[in-house]
Amino acid sequence: MQISTTANPAPVDDARLVEILANPGFGTHFTDHMLTVEWTPEKGWYDARITPYGPLTLDPATAVLHYAQETFEGMKAYRHDDGSIWTFRPEQNAARMVRSSHRLAFPELPVDDFVSCVDALVEVDQRWVPDSEGEKSLYLRPFMFASEKFLGVRPAQHVTFMVIASPAGAYFKGGVRPVTLWLSEQFTRAGRGGMGAAKTGGNYASSLAAQREAIEQGCDQVVFLDDQEFRYVEELGGMNMFYVHADGHIVTPETGTILEGITRASIIELAGKLGHRVEERKFSIDEWREGIASGDIIEIFACGTAAVVTPVGELKSPHGDVPAPASTDLTMRLRDALVGMQFGRAEDSFGWMHRV
Ligand code: PMP
Repeated sequence: MQISTTANPAPVDDARLVEILANPGFGTHFTDHMLTVEWTPEKGWYDARITPYGPLTLDPATAVLHYAQETFEGMKAYRHDDGSIWTFRPEQNAARMVRSSHRLAFPELPVDDFVSCVDALVEVDQRWVPDSEGEKSLYLRPFMFASEKFLGVRPAQHVTFMVIASPAGAYFKGGVRPVTLWLSEQFTRAGRGGMGAAKTGGNYASSLAAQREAIEQGCDQVVFLDDQEFRYVEELGGMNMFYVHADGHIVTPETGTILEGITRASIIELAGKLGHRVEERKFSIDEWREGIASGDIIEIFACGTAAVVTPVGELKSPHGDVPAPASTDLTMRLRDALVGMQFGRAEDSFGWMHRV
C-alpha cells in the first residue's frame, strides 16, 4: 500500500510535547498526524494518506452516525532503552479487525496493509512515543467506519479506515493495585449470534449503563455474565478474566461471545510455557464464590492492552460479596514477563515484538 504524507506545518512545539509526555494521562492528547484510507466497491482501498491531525467534516446523514457500523482496535507502541520503537503482535490486532469486519459487513483490510498503516503513522509521529520509564507508551487507535452518506440500512458502499495516536501514561499510578469488580445482574454485553466477539463501538455503548452502576457501587469495573442463564462469567467491560487454582491450573472463559484479547491469547501461551495447564471453558459465578470460600482459587486476574495484567480484588454483587483471593504471585510474574517483553527488558522468546 502506497501512503502519501503531508507534514503538519504547525506541529506541537518541543517544549509543549515534553510537558505532555511528562504526564500524558489517557486519550486526551493526540499526535501531529493521522492516517486515512478509503474504500468503495469499485476502487477497493485507495488514497492512503497521512495528513495533519484535525477534525473530520461529516454529512449528518453519514451512516455510522445512525447505524453504528464501525470497528476499532487498541494497541500500543513502546520505546526501548536504545530508542527503538516496537509494537506488540500488531498482526493479531489486524487479524481481529478482519474478524470484526466480517461481523460488521465491512470489506477486509489486509493484515499487511493494517500493519503498514500503523507503522507509517508511528514513524511520522515517532517523537510522540514516550521514554520507557514509568510504563508510558503511545496508544494507537485504528478504526473503520461507514462513511457513506445514506440513510438506508445496508452495508456502506463508502468506508473509511483511520489510525490516530495518543500518548498514554501508566495505567496504575503508584504501583499495581487490585481492581474491585461489580457483578452486573441486570445487563449483559453479548448474546449468541450477537457482536460480543467483535470490537465495535456498540458493545461499549451497551456497557456504559452497567459501568455506571459499578462506579455507583464504588467498584472499578463491571463483570458481565452470559445472556442465557446469567450464570457464566464472560469478561469485564474492557478486559478478559483468568482464575488460578491451588494445583496450578488456570481457567479462562471460552470464546464465542467475548472479545478475544491479544493479551489473553499471549497469557495462555506464556502460562503454558511456565508449566500451567490452561483451560478455556465456561466458568460460573458459583464456581467463583465456592473457589474463594474453599481456597481452591488462589488468584484471579484480568488482562488487556491498557493494564496488561491486573490482580482482581473483591467482587461485589446484589447477592453477596466475594472477597479477594489470597495471592497475586503468578499474576505479577505474568505481568512482569509481558511488560518486560514490551519494553525490551526481558527476552522476547515468542518473537511477539514488531520493530516499527
Ligand atoms: N475485552 C474487552 C471487552 C476489551 O475491550 C478488551 C480491550 N481491547 C479486552 C477484552 C482485552 O483485549 P486486548 O488484550 O486485545 O487488549
